[in-house]
Amino acid sequence: MTNLSSASRSTRAIHAGQEPDPVTGAVSTPIYMTSTFKQDGVGRPRNGFDYSRSVNPTRNGFDRQLAAVEGAEFATSFSSGLAAIDVLLRSTLRPGDAILIGNDVYGGTYRLLAKVFVPWGVTLDVVDITDPAAVGHALREKDYRYLWVETPSNPLLGITDIAAVSALAHERGTNVVVDNTFASPILQHPLADGADAVVYSTTKYIGGHSDVIGGAVLTNDPAIAEPVAFLQNAAGAVPSPFDSWLDIRGLKTLELRVRRHSSNALELARWMETLADPDEPSAPLERVWYPGLESHPGHDVAARQMDGGFGGMISIQFGGANDDEKFANAKKFAESTELFTLAESLGGVESLVEHPGAMTHASVSGTTLEVPSNLVRLSVGIEDVRDLQADLAQAFAALGK
Ligand SMILES: *Cc1c(COP(=O)(O)O)cnc(C)c1O
Repeated sequence: MTNLSSASRSTRAIHAGQEPDPVTGAVSTPIYMTSTFKQDGVGRPRNGFDYSRSVNPTRNGFDRQLAAVEGAEFATSFSSGLAAIDVLLRSTLRPGDAILIGNDVYGGTYRLLAKVFVPWGVTLDVVDITDPAAVGHALREKDYRYLWVETPSNPLLGITDIAAVSALAHERGTNVVVDNTFASPILQHPLADGADAVVYSTTKYIGGHSDVIGGAVLTNDPAIAEPVAFLQNAAGAVPSPFDSWLDIRGLKTLELRVRRHSSNALELARWMETLADPDEPSAPLERVWYPGLESHPGHDVAARQMDGGFGGMISIQFGGANDDEKFANAKKFAESTELFTLAESLGGVESLVEHPGAMTHASVSGTTLEVPSNLVRLSVGIEDVRDLQADLAQAFAALGK
């Protein structure tokens, strides 16, 4: 077989860790739905396979495939994105350590930190992570074990310069983790930019079909990979073989899907921007947030840092005479789309719409991470963009503006 390490990302996505089954030649990796394995003698598991919490051939195939696509030495997959984040933090943080996070992180990550890790003795601080000067200042104030980066962030699509903040963090001996769920390994390569670890919710673009919950931790650093693998086996938040098979299948087509998500989203964002006017209460929209728009404050960094697209996520803020009317417009719009399905989550082939303040980000209401009440988040799918635009147009028309 040709040397996959010199093959391109899309080739690695299809072949790495996916050798035909040695027994039957099956081209698709079998779902090894087994908890245990017959041993060749006492204490002599065949090829190291002893028990599926520790090792499973389907899961290992996905780990090798994902590591190859990311260009990472180590990948460990989990039963959810939050299980991956939990194990990374719990295996490498100790009570007394501090973590610095952006002011616009995934609500579930914030909840895990604030409600589980803080009572356990970890200090949590929040910074405007899109501003390297603010990050540098915060890093000089205190010793942090981790700087936690999400870019593009959720739901406001803020952009952080990974190379810039990684350089600042490393000066202070702080490790950098990038939650790369929104960009996926196709559009952004945090390890190459200086991050120490990457986490994914594979539930989103990697699985890609809204049919599996999963997560992963990737790194080149054995000092992170080893405790993560140890705690995974010790605590057991493993994906099932069927989950791993769905992730394998999704990852094979990730590049094609992400290019289409990105081109659809760019076209819709440009169109919606023509409907926005921050100073005009009768305009349907106040603001469109998409890193591919030149009006986005992080556009230049995103254009440099992201590789061939800006992703499929758009957030829009609704207009209105006052806050109540803006909120009502956002809610009405989210309930008026037809192709865009009203649902949490993102990254699947089908377009979704949601109201973060009342749905995905309800857990951060009343905190410094609270999101605007007139905000609606769109996960743009891979349908025909003309149909998507027509659906959004009829939902804007339903506002009666
Ligand atoms: C969904 C998501 C998570 C959590 O992943 P689960 O698979 O739902 O546990 C973490 N980070 C980001 C950015 C997400 O979108």
